[in-house]
Amino acid sequence: MRYWLFAFLTLCSLAFAQVTHTVQPGETLYRIAKQYSTTVEALQVLNQIGDPTQLRVGQVLRVSGQPSTALNRLTQAPAPIEALEWPRQTVQGHLAVIRITAPQAVQGEVRFLNNTYPIQQNRVLLPVPALQAPGVYPALLRLGQDVVRLEVRVVAGSFGRFVLQLPPERQALLVPERLRAERLRVVGSCDFNRPQQWRGPFRKPIQTNRITDPFGTRRSYDQGRTFSYHEGLDYGVPEGTPVYAPAPGVVGLAERLFVRGGAVTLDHGLGVCSGYWHLSRIVVQPGQTVQAGDLLGYSGNTGLSNGPHLHFEIRVRGIPTNPAPWFLSAP
Ligand SMILES: [Zn+2]
Repeated sequence: MRYWLFAFLTLCSLAFAQVTHTVQPGETLYRIAKQYSTTVEALQVLNQIGDPTQLRVGQVLRVSGQPSTALNRLTQAPAPIEALEWPRQTVQGHLAVIRITAPQAVQGEVRFLNNTYPIQQNRVLLPVPALQAPGVYPALLRLGQDVVRLEVRVVAGSFGRFVLQLPPERQALLVPERLRAERLRVVGSCDFNRPQQWRGPFRKPIQTNRITDPFGTRRSYDQGRTFSYHEGLDYGVPEGTPVYAPAPGVVGLAERLFVRGGAVTLDHGLGVCSGYWHLSRIVVQPGQTVQAGDLLGYSGNTGLSNGPHLHFEIRVRGIPTNPAPWFLSAP
C-alpha cells in the first residue's frame, strides 16, 4: 500500500463581489432579508449565524455572494487523478465536498469519522456531524492499492441553546428504543445508491421567512448539558400551509410516525434525502417521482410537536446537515 503525501498543496480562494449591511437598532434578520430580496437562511449561511434572533447593532453582515470557497488543492495523486480539491475548512453540520479532476470516472472511497463514503461522479460528499468537535480529521481516500491522506478542518458553528421543558408524561414517551426504531425507518427510506436527481440549488419547501428554530440548536433537559441538537429547520406556519418538493426526487416514505407525525422523505440520490415532519395531510405515495415545486402535503402539528410548524431536514447518508446552504448552492 502506498501513501501519497499531503505535499503539493496550494490554496486558492475565489473572490466574489460583496454587498454588506450594518445592523441598525430595531432591525431583524427577517427585515434585512426582505430589504435585500434574500432569505433569512441565506444570511445565516453567509454570516455563520446560528440563531437568527442574536443580532448586534453595528454588526456588519454580508448580504450577497456565496459562502467561503477557499479550497485545498492537491495535484500529486495517483493516476488518473489530476487534482483533488476540498474546502479549507468546514463548519459543524455542513458538507465537505471532495472534487476529483480526472479524464474518467474514478472508483474508490473515503474513510472519514468512522464511516465510508464512495466516490460518486468524481465527488465525495462528506457530512460533518453538527456535534463534531472542532479540529483536524483525516480523510483517507482509497483507490485500489493507493491511499491518499487528506485533512479536513472542522470549525465551530454558532448555535443557540435550548433547554427543553417537557412535561414528565411526554418525556416518558421518548423511549430510546422507540426513537432509534423511528430514526432507522427514516434513514432506511433513503437508497444511498440512487443516481443524482437534483440539479442546482434547492428551492424552499414552504412559502415563509419565519424560522422558529434553526438547524443545530443544542438541546438539553438539564443544567445546560448538551445531549442532542436540532436536526433540521423549523418554519412557523399555520396548519394547512402547502409543502413543496425543493428538488427532484423519489418519495421514500409517506406515513404517520410516532415522534415525527405525518412524515414524508424524498430521495434526491447520492445518499441525499430530505424529510418533512408534523404534516397534517400527505398527498404523495412511496415510490412516486416528484419534480421541484410538486406538492407533497400540508403542514400541521402532528407527532410530538408543540405548535403548528414544518420541520425540514436534509440528511447525507443518514447524517443530518444544515439545509440552509442547499438553498444557495447544491454540490
Ligand atoms: Zn424541528
